Amino acid sequence: MADHRKFVSGIVPPEVRSEPSWWFIFQENKLLIDQSPESVTLPFLIDLNELGLIVIRQNYLGQLDNRLCYAAEVAEGTIPPVGMAFEGLRQVYGRLDEDLFWIAARAVQIIDWDRTHQFCGRCGVPLRTKPDERAKVCPQCGLLHFPRLAPAIIVLVERGNQLLLARSRHFMPGMYSVLAGFVEPGESLEEAVVREVKEEVGIEIKDIKYFGSQPWPFPHSLMIGFTAAYAGGEISLDDKEIEDAGWFTVEKLPRIPGKISIARKLIDGFLAKQGSFHED
Ligand SMILES: [Zn+2]
Repeated sequence: MADHRKFVSGIVPPEVRSEPSWWFIFQENKLLIDQSPESVTLPFLIDLNELGLIVIRQNYLGQLDNRLCYAAEVAEGTIPPVGMAFEGLRQVYGRLDEDLFWIAARAVQIIDWDRTHQFCGRCGVPLRTKPDERAKVCPQCGLLHFPRLAPAIIVLVERGNQLLLARSRHFMPGMYSVLAGFVEPGESLEEAVVREVKEEVGIEIKDIKYFGSQPWPFPHSLMIGFTAAYAGGEISLDDKEIEDAGWFTVEKLPRIPGKISIARKLIDGFLAKQGSFHED
């Protein structure tokens, strides 16, 4: 695994910016990348004026190895500077440095929150940004507004040398993945895991173990991964979301998600246990 540089989240930007900084610039949810034939990187500048872009909002993010990081949004229709392009985060994954990619995943969520939380949801007056935390406050009623985060569980269920994979109607043709779903208010993560598996494929599970987690900025989820073992029941698809599901061995895998996702890390973990692995 590659060494990761240290990102330290921050709220209060330094008063003066005298060194080049990383700029995570978005038009809607597309990131401005600086592309040469050899590589893809991000604007690294002291001031955004150097690119001649007009910024409609800007948020300080923190520091990556002591370099300041900023998120910014430019207006719809803005033409990218020469040699640059606006691209979706999924398209950028694997080409951009991984540390910068995951900061971009934060940046897109903070910009989206800033954009969509201009007014108080209770009384409708314009919100004020809190200077000392990632929050906005209503000057009239005091209601606090934090960035939205939607926790979702994702679970790999195994039965001996087989794993359970399912196909959502929204997937690309031929693609199967592990089960996932949003956590409901009042539910523990483990309860959500049991409910999702029961709802989506009708089986019982046991031995639920935490696997790891991953931010998923499409648009603002936090994926919390688990493994579990089959405990009983037959696969039945009542849920209209799932169009097919089944038990697969490592020798007969369908098309699976790309390496960006925790779904793939769960599947790769299972494959490794079976002494196997999967390219691309
Ligand atoms: Zn209010």
